[in-house]
Amino acid sequence: MIADLHNHTPLCNHAKGSIDDYIQVAVASGTRYFGFSDHAPMAFDTQYRMRFEDMPIYEAQLKEARDRYQNEITVLSGYEVDFMPPYLDERVLNAKVDYLIGSVHFLDEWGFDNPDYIQEYQNRDIDTLYRDYFEQIKMMAQSRQFQIVGHLDLIKVMDFHPKQDVRTLAKEAIKAIKKADMVVELSSAGLRKPVKEIYPGRALMEMIAEAEIPITFASDAHHPKQVGFAGDKLRQLAQQYGYSQCAIFREKEREMIKF
Ligand SMILES: [Zn+2]
Ligand SMILES: [Zn+2]
Repeated sequence: MIADLHNHTPLCNHAKGSIDDYIQVAVASGTRYFGFSDHAPMAFDTQYRMRFEDMPIYEAQLKEARDRYQNEITVLSGYEVDFMPPYLDERVLNAKVDYLIGSVHFLDEWGFDNPDYIQEYQNRDIDTLYRDYFEQIKMMAQSRQFQIVGHLDLIKVMDFHPKQDVRTLAKEAIKAIKKADMVVELSSAGLRKPVKEIYPGRALMEMIAEAEIPITFASDAHHPKQVGFAGDKLRQLAQQYGYSQCAIFREKEREMIKF
């Protein structure tokens, strides 16, 4: 993967391997821009994210790594932020990092992508879930706090699909993403989950390409061995939809890189 902007560190309590381990795999596989975007702290679901007091440690570690590896690879810094309005925190939104990824992992405080809580799907109407999910994505884009949309259709993670056309369900969210001038990541993480598909799926890829929304690439690695995972598949998908450039960010400014 020429650029891979979504990677975690052990500070979030559910990823393994040192920052060095991740970077070394990225260097060995020819990645030019490698970004960490660990789960930002928030006063909810605290066991799956770093603590507020870890932020300076995290940012200092990335700065140190960026300097040390500058001749081999460009290391970028970010956070993956849960879009949950009551819990959004200025310390994260104003952090001096290169970019923020906005993600939706919770609906009514239910972690729908956590296999431990999968039985909750039995109590829900799948179309309503998809509608609520994409409403949150729309609001996330409208908040104008984030540069990248994390795993756009994560709601398919457990391989439950809506009866209604997903294009109709996601339409307003994609419009809001375009209007906010955000970037959508093509993520191989879905290939490792029950759905076994890239995020976003083809129907949504077509809409994104049609709207000329810029893309970037993401392995969402929680272990060094996942760095660059299925990079060829992501690149081929992007090329099939007419893309030849991907986005990176420095200090929240977008740059386009040819691939
Ligand atoms: Zn994670
Ligand atoms: Zn995520």
